[in-house]
Amino acid sequence: MIAVEGAKKLVTQNTKVLPSIEIELSEGLGYVLSEDVYAPISHPPFQQSAMDGYAIGQFKKNSPSNTFKLVGETKAGDLSTFSLKEGEAIRIFTGAMVPGGAMSVIMQEVTEVNGDELVIHQEIKAGSNIRPEGGQIMAGALALAKGTTLSPAGVGFLADLGITQLNVYAKPKVGLIVTGNELVKAGQKLQKGQIYESNSTTLTAALLATGTNVAATKSVQDSLEQTTLTIQKMMESMEVIIISGGISVGDYDFVGEALKSLNVEEVFYKVNQKPGKPLFFGKKDKCIIFALPGNPSAALLCFYQYVLPAIRKMCGESVHSLEKRSLVLKNGYIKKGERAHFLKAKVEGETVEILEGQSSAMLYTFAVANALVYIPENKNEVKIGELVEVQMLP
Ligand code: AMP
Ligand code: MG
Repeated sequence: MIAVEGAKKLVTQNTKVLPSIEIELSEGLGYVLSEDVYAPISHPPFQQSAMDGYAIGQFKKNSPSNTFKLVGETKAGDLSTFSLKEGEAIRIFTGAMVPGGAMSVIMQEVTEVNGDELVIHQEIKAGSNIRPEGGQIMAGALALAKGTTLSPAGVGFLADLGITQLNVYAKPKVGLIVTGNELVKAGQKLQKGQIYESNSTTLTAALLATGTNVAATKSVQDSLEQTTLTIQKMMESMEVIIISGGISVGDYDFVGEALKSLNVEEVFYKVNQKPGKPLFFGKKDKCIIFALPGNPSAALLCFYQYVLPAIRKMCGESVHSLEKRSLVLKNGYIKKGERAHFLKAKVEGETVEILEGQSSAMLYTFAVANALVYIPENKNEVKIGELVEVQMLP
């Protein structure tokens, strides 16, 4: 049996960043840039008014310095250009091009207009309320660096620059297989002895939350033949296969045998942890395979600890694990046995509380948790007031 940290290292070592692909900007959310992106234009592309008000020219000699002659109007989108002479002003609106010769834009709230005369009731500062051309970024400058994960603001910023195509790291094709004779799809009637299948829903949602779609989901009975054929078929097209259930030591657990018969190389099987001890990680050709224990809470825990880091690495992300914090524990916990524990917990401010109901079969606790408390194998107890390692759930 391997220790948690060793297992995590092996997952990283056996996972490769996927090749770069070109995509449309509109599909870019959540992708990681595989090359630096440079600004093809300056932004703003011309000097813009930051206010609704008046653009004023230079002061005219021998005239009152707060009075200007109104000579026209310009609004956002107007294309014509003209220049202001000394002592002249024009009405201007936010986003409009500031005319040549303008010294400043004055907000309308501090002005007064009498006919074609503009009077300004505020000290005039040169350059105020003008967004200079290239004030945000100059043409040719680095816009976003390689390795940046594109957020809504990220794709929007590149749209500001007129970019339509991007080079990013590909996302893996992920296949899900759920095993178990007892499993029934929601919507069908349950018979005594059956339960509703939930792991495919949980794992699909967990993947979606990281920006990865599931390419195919299959359900199989506890049958060696069916399990083997389904894994074999998926290995032809998938880069990641996640299997739920059937990896333990029961007489009807066939996943291990199926993987062996398909010559999948075992990287590790069984991790010194609770929940999620019977976790398998292996690889064959371009495919990595995780076989997660079927208990719903254990399956999700293994996803967060091992599958998520692998997927983040494949997508070119630089941070792979859940965000760690060190927080004060609100309640003590005595750990039985030598395994490392991942405990569903609730973080509030700078404190964390370990929740009741840690069974690997209970998903409820996970549903109300926002974090995990990690107790390493060499520690038997954590006490009230102690600082503990907390992993924030995404
Ligand atoms: P297994 O790992 O196949 O021995 O399953 C362990 C426990 O998890 C059993 O109680 C199963 O009924 C349950 N289980 C397995 N797969 C699923 C699933 N996809 N959805 C809900 N429960 C499951
Ligand atoms: Mg089973």
